[in-house]
Amino acid sequence: MDNCIFCKIANGEIPTNKVYEDEVVIAFLDMSQITKGHTLLVPKKHVQDIFGYSSNDAGAVFKRIPLIANALKEAFPDMQGLNILNNNGETAFQTVMHSHIHLIPRYSKENDGF
Ligand code: 5GP
Ligand code: ZN
Repeated sequence: MDNCIFCKIANGEIPTNKVYEDEVVIAFLDMSQITKGHTLLVPKKHVQDIFGYSSNDAGAVFKRIPLIANALKEAFPDMQGLNILNNNGETAFQTVMHSHIHLIPRYSKENDGF
């Protein structure tokens, strides 16, 4: 998809802080870190939002969440919890129109990443 920033990241046209990559997905650090390790899990195939997914494609992407969650836990051993967030549509605060899943590590209240 032309002019889609996440397609460009998935194609390797734009460098990024990669957390994980395989043939189906890429995961990279969000440029605006809500907490330390805030990561976006993105399908390589352009899909706008949850309404545009086939069940098979959604399954392939969403089933990789535990893999990324555990990679984050290993990278950030002080992580204690994790928010998983997927915004769909402008009214739901989606700003990049290539579907993505936020993984937002949570730490102790005294040490919430920053
Ligand atoms: P949304 O609001 O669509 O759910 O989230 C989009 C997220 O993508 C935001 O958290 C924003 O910081 C992140 N983002 C937007 N453009 C880029 C980019 O070029 N690189 C990275 N790493 N993150 C981006
Ligand atoms: Zn795209």
